[in-house]
Amino acid sequence: MDKRKILLLYTGGTIGMVKDYKTGALKSFDFNKLLKHVPELNQLDCSIDSISFDNPLDSSNMNPKEWVRIVSIIEEHYTNYDGFVVLHGSDTMSYTASALSFLLENLDKPVILTGSQLPIGDLRTDAKENLITSIQIAALQNKGTSVIKEVGLYFEYKLYRGNRTTKINAENFRAFASLNYPHLAESGVHLNVFPEYLLIKKNNKKLVVHKKMDENVALVKLFPGMNPSVLENVLKTDGLKALILETYGSGNGPTADWFITSLKKSIENGLHVINVTQCSGGSVLMGKYETSSALKDMQVVNGKDITTEAAISKAMYMLGSGVSSKHFKTVFETSLRGEMR
Ligand code: ASP
Repeated sequence: MDKRKILLLYTGGTIGMVKDYKTGALKSFDFNKLLKHVPELNQLDCSIDSISFDNPLDSSNMNPKEWVRIVSIIEEHYTNYDGFVVLHGSDTMSYTASALSFLLENLDKPVILTGSQLPIGDLRTDAKENLITSIQIAALQNKGTSVIKEVGLYFEYKLYRGNRTTKINAENFRAFASLNYPHLAESGVHLNVFPEYLLIKKNNKKLVVHKKMDENVALVKLFPGMNPSVLENVLKTDGLKALILETYGSGNGPTADWFITSLKKSIENGLHVINVTQCSGGSVLMGKYETSSALKDMQVVNGKDITTEAAISKAMYMLGSGVSSKHFKTVFETSLRGEMR
């Protein structure tokens, strides 16, 4: 049987760094020498090729242009590989995982993002396990097709649906959580995949790689005592097309006049306002409390149980692919890649 072919793409982040033991500083290593740092890769029953960004990025510098660069590389190599592993800094990995899920439509091969809290060259590193198991997951096949046909995020023994994750810890090896959706696989003595949670590809359509993201999106997190002019100034942003509003609990916000009036005016002028809860788990339920009834009445988009990370990239993707204003609310409230219920 032919060996599975896996393409590793190093975009940056701690995982691809080694410690200079003389100075203590972290520096990127030559990715072509990956095997020198992780000789264990030789034991995997896969053939692995790797590509590295010329200037690896700390993921705080990630942006939509780089997301398009990543999907373009996947597109270019799509037919030649069985699976893709994207090595990425953990800080904004959930944003990238969400964005890739929207940009890659009709995916029928795995795209697994992973990274680490400690550099690959550190004695106590979590990078090796994350890297090796991600490759194994990307290589999984059943009856000649990939087991995972979606964008996943693997970290500390669990594979999650990428667009359901959030980085929750800057210290712990368990850095990510997916509070509104069960994990897709778990690595223990065995690698257990939970098929009931995997995204099922319902058609035979070919991969479509979208390359347009519209960045005219803003995010406002409500807090008690917020100065009305903060919201008003955001709403005045030139060219703004969508506002993600992180509300309280099940989608609630103040009933104060300044809040309701300014949002209502902006919606009437064509702004899409998307209600996302600032709780890490649970869902928006507009109309449950009086404090969300006005939002429901003014046709605020229901973000349901979507993460903020996925809401931002979904809005950018939908605006970029020209979804009309008339259909924006209905399309946003529909699950496109398993990102909401
Ligand atoms: N600052 C790093 C990054 O996100 C942290 C990491 O790699 O986990 O690029």
